[in-house]
Amino acid sequence: MSKTLYEDLVNVYEDISNTTSRLEKEDIISEFLRSIKEKDPEIIYDVTLLLQGKIFPPWSDKEMGVSTQLIIKALSKLLGEKTKTIENKLASVGDMGEITQELIKNNKQVTFFKVPLTIKKVISNLRRTESITGSNSQNKKLNLILELYTSASPLEAKYITRTITEKLRIGVGEGTLVEAIAKAYDIEKEVIDRAYMLSNDLGEVAKRAQDSLESVQSLTINPGKPIKPMLAQLSPGIKESIEEMEEVICETKYDGIRVQIHKKDDKIKIFTRRLENVTNALPEIVEYVRKALPDEDYIVEGEVIATRDNKPISFQYILQRVKRKYDVERMREKIPLKIFLFDVLYYKEPTAEESLNERRKLLESIVTTSDDVELSTMKTVTPENYEEAVELFNWSLEKGHEGIMFKDVNSPYSPGKRGKNMLKYKPVRETLDCVITGGIYGKGKRAKFFGSYLLSLLDSESGEYKTLVHAATGMDDEMLANLTERMQEYVISTNEQVVTFKPAVILEVAYSEIVESNEYETGYSLRFPAIKRVRDDIGLDQVDTIDKLMQMIELQNQ
Ligand code: AMP
Repeated sequence: MSKTLYEDLVNVYEDISNTTSRLEKEDIISEFLRSIKEKDPEIIYDVTLLLQGKIFPPWSDKEMGVSTQLIIKALSKLLGEKTKTIENKLASVGDMGEITQELIKNNKQVTFFKVPLTIKKVISNLRRTESITGSNSQNKKLNLILELYTSASPLEAKYITRTITEKLRIGVGEGTLVEAIAKAYDIEKEVIDRAYMLSNDLGEVAKRAQDSLESVQSLTINPGKPIKPMLAQLSPGIKESIEEMEEVICETKYDGIRVQIHKKDDKIKIFTRRLENVTNALPEIVEYVRKALPDEDYIVEGEVIATRDNKPISFQYILQRVKRKYDVERMREKIPLKIFLFDVLYYKEPTAEESLNERRKLLESIVTTSDDVELSTMKTVTPENYEEAVELFNWSLEKGHEGIMFKDVNSPYSPGKRGKNMLKYKPVRETLDCVITGGIYGKGKRAKFFGSYLLSLLDSESGEYKTLVHAATGMDDEMLANLTERMQEYVISTNEQVVTFKPAVILEVAYSEIVESNEYETGYSLRFPAIKRVRDDIGLDQVDTIDKLMQMIELQNQ
């Protein structure tokens, strides 16, 4: 039976929080992982979960179901403190973990440290809270956490609370953990990265890395366990995107929700792009897909849309379906759904690492299409026949869809990555004419150029320019170089990578949405800004104003 003390992990949490250096954080974690390998290898999965502030594996739908209110009740019972007092503290401090630590430290009536807490004990008590339902469940849950608090030191209690509230606050992200695992077992980061990408389960990655290089290398996609979807970047334009990728699968972009459908043995599960299991909300999709594909294990991906008279209707309707827990059958009649499949990540064996071309061929060979299950409409295009993509774009909009996607035919499926292998292109967006007031030098091959510009609008009342957004996309290499050269004469000051410019050059910038923001002087910013062109045809007095921004916001709200 595993005996590693919870205190050991808590010391690691503390050490990690006490440094801002990512490298040091990685070293602390990797040293700890090595000590686990030596002393208590069976516990590695749980340790990796706890280092992420989690209790359940990523593929599990389980939740602890312990509210902050219940923590407060437990502490109140344990320490004889009024719940109201604790609530007031929470309102002023904000971190329930700190409060737990302080309360236990200041309380003299309880003798702590009766039984030293082990990692196993902590995770097992917290996990058991999930399965408790029915009458008296709150009390039973309360007893499970009370048992932990009774044995915990103030510091341990802090992290027990933070684990329950899912706010670990130690400043460790997935990237740091991947590096730490690689270091701990002396395995190349790329190997760990790949295993994590395909399994989405760091615990499993660490466990296998602890065993051997071969074991972690053999980790792959598994039907039943959701993987992070590959994400799309914005396309600057049809022609540009096709020229960049050279050979492109161009597909209709549907306006619905993205789903990953897993079949393992007899069981079909549907996950959203945030990896929530929505199988129960979408029973007909389960039926349709079961009928459309052979009786094998698979993972396919597609977009579910809501229809009326077989035409796509607004995305809002599908949201109503997906969030539905009750009355699913009635909703099923009210808002009919269909699915467009566009990828296959597993069919009898993993296929995610094959090229898109191969995956699409496979998809076409295994799916029997119908009115309910279709494949995404697509064309393979090259720079020579890019007009076909324009045709598909027009056709897609006519049919009521959202736009088109560009996907590199030679690319593998990269889970969780927002790369250049998949781009989305939507209809002409609103634009604003902004003046450049700042710039930041780029990185890597763009280091000599301004990779991003700070753009401002005119405040007609004061006559000053107020900042709105940093825009980096949309510039090709030529524009990047020309603009950098041109901006030199307007430099007011330079602070390392960041430069301030005298307002002189105006850029037209397209965007998808205006959003509120504390970061910019206008109090707003733009989502997905893309630089369209330099507006030498207008003067500084014609830069768009804050009044115009307000009008655009009104239009947007309509
Ligand atoms: P966005 O939601 O604007 O970030 O665009 C990316 C999303 O487009 C994906 O997450 C999918 O939900 C959706 N989508 C619609 N049609 C397709 C398609 N044919 N291929 C890939 N994604 C698609």
